[in-house]
Amino acid sequence: MRQRLSCDQYVNGILAGDRLLLSRAITLIESRHPDDQLLAQDVLSTVLAKSSTNFNSTRVGITGVPGVGKSSFIEILGAHLTGLGHRLAVLTVDPTSQRSGGSLLGDKTRMEQLSMNPNAYIRPSPAGDSLGGVAHRTRETLLLCEAAGFDVILIETVGVGQSETVVHGMVDFFLLLMLAGAGDELQGMKRGIMELADALAITKADGDNIPSANRARVEYQNALHLFPPTDTGWYPPVLTCSATTGDGIDHIWQTIVEHQQLTRRSGYHTTHRHEQQLAWFRSLLRHELDSRFFKQPAIRAKLEAIEKQVKAGTLFPVQAVQSLLGSPEES
Ligand code: GDP
Repeated sequence: MRQRLSCDQYVNGILAGDRLLLSRAITLIESRHPDDQLLAQDVLSTVLAKSSTNFNSTRVGITGVPGVGKSSFIEILGAHLTGLGHRLAVLTVDPTSQRSGGSLLGDKTRMEQLSMNPNAYIRPSPAGDSLGGVAHRTRETLLLCEAAGFDVILIETVGVGQSETVVHGMVDFFLLLMLAGAGDELQGMKRGIMELADALAITKADGDNIPSANRARVEYQNALHLFPPTDTGWYPPVLTCSATTGDGIDHIWQTIVEHQQLTRRSGYHTTHRHEQQLAWFRSLLRHELDSRFFKQPAIRAKLEAIEKQVKAGTLFPVQAVQSLLGSPEES
């Protein structure tokens, strides 16, 4: 077994930008072992106390259905960003990787160029039991990456289910990648996600696809006009890009920079991050309450019988809850 390092060794390594120690600290965060978890919390709180740079970072969420071109886009955006002198971390939130062993976002062979770039750090989705757990570990990982000097954090998620809402809750800017002409059913499904987006980008706008990408841009721009304005004074634009030719990549980054400038000037950036912190705390608290409750021997002993009665219709669900928790006056 690998020797465990001290808290200071991790902290100093991370603050010095040591990628190996950063990776090992993230592995601690992802560990289920209680000793690892304690050490991980120590490392995290010491690192955060010693680094004050994280408000200067840019956190960007990127989503889109499988095949839309997320990894190709991140590969080329990453090259652009490191060319501008940024240091970039790419994290993924992929709840499917827990269920099937396989993952919609694929394995580490994605973003081959970027993974060899010394100014980029790629970390796939942590293994975890629930989206909530995965999200929690990703937030902690994000903080460590920032402390290690990565100033742009891209969080990629696959455009199915709840993971985009969760990622939206941890980023400053949320980018939705879309295909031109992908059909109404897909767009219907995307409506909720469209409302979260700070920008839409139509991918694969190259060669024969250019006219349809431009048509899609106009259609989505019209659709976005129907949404109520956001409280930041920011109007989500619809852009086009190609990972093959590189067209539009610079413009997308410029858009993100403008959004950052606007929200930092208005104070929204700080307020928004504070609200995200609070929401994180609340979701952790609920998660912890839930798991502590179900771990209690007395509850475990009663639960099975109660569930049987509820199923059989001999005990009404409301009464079943009262009999487990006691009535509100008692607590
Ligand atoms: P992901 O599943 O969203 O990560 O999508 P990928 O990045 O793996 O891309 C899916 C497919 O689309 C691959 O076959 C890519 O080669 C192709 N693709 C990605 N970006 C572009 C692009 O800008 N132009 C064209 N023509 N094809 C692209």
